[in-house]
Amino acid sequence: MFYEVSKNFPCPKCGNNHWCSFDKEQNIICCRRNTGSGIYRLDTTGTEYWLHFLHPSTTYTRNATKPLNPVVATTQLSASQLNEAYSCLLSNLDLGQFHKENLLKRGLTDSQISTNQYKSYSLLRRRQLALKLQHLFGEHICKDIPGMYKDSRGVFVIGGCPGLLIPVRDPSARIVALKIRCYSSTSSRYSYLSSKSHGGKSPGHPLHFPLAFDFNSKLIRITEGELKADIATVLSGTPTISIPGILSWRMAIPVLKSLKPETVRLAFDMDFKTNPDVARALIAAFDEIKSLGFNTEVETWI
Ligand SMILES: [Zn+2]
Repeated sequence: MFYEVSKNFPCPKCGNNHWCSFDKEQNIICCRRNTGSGIYRLDTTGTEYWLHFLHPSTTYTRNATKPLNPVVATTQLSASQLNEAYSCLLSNLDLGQFHKENLLKRGLTDSQISTNQYKSYSLLRRRQLALKLQHLFGEHICKDIPGMYKDSRGVFVIGGCPGLLIPVRDPSARIVALKIRCYSSTSSRYSYLSSKSHGGKSPGHPLHFPLAFDFNSKLIRITEGELKADIATVLSGTPTISIPGILSWRMAIPVLKSLKPETVRLAFDMDFKTNPDVARALIAAFDEIKSLGFNTEVETWI
């Protein structure tokens, strides 16, 4: 059993407070960043980690060193069940003027905004929303919906920071997670609606396919960010998949093998100029995708 690092227990190898993990005895560290040492491994999603033993005498089995991977969902609900629950949640919310104007400014039309089901998420009416979901889906489903959990009184609530809700869709257009764009200066810019920090379920970090995605296109773009992928797909006409991060680029490989586009375009922010881990991952992704026979291009977004 591995536990994710936190602010109180940052990774002893890279100093980050997320994504790396450690075992119960705090002997084994699975660091997600290349610090120049450790045993190099790939996890089940093809994401890299480096294994470190804080006590050199540690004995271990290969099974005992499978790190925690936030990319993998802990909810047991199927995509259809998640879609039903999240669609119900979204249908009970509105899109506020502030968020709508922001989406219009980024180039989406009224109709695209409505079809994509972006909604404003405030702190108001959460209890009523939770009650409604509990009434419709029952306790056994609600306890498995990422974002829902029971508070100290044993009452179901829905967590997450206020902000813009962005549906994360699988290739069948089912909503399998919700991303929140938080506008508060104290929280991260984007986060998943998850109950993980309350001991509940997480949706993992799934790939996202915009509604306007053309699965027969000869050109496919890969980027990081669901909203960015939605906008890029409708504005450029190039179907754009969102991966949770460039470090998880291998998650896109089975999709590319199945869709067989002629060209794959990797489009990422300029982080790779300052972040060596990102630069290395981008080069590895480019080389691997090219070696699989796709024309491979890199597009940089500022
Ligand atoms: Zn680390």
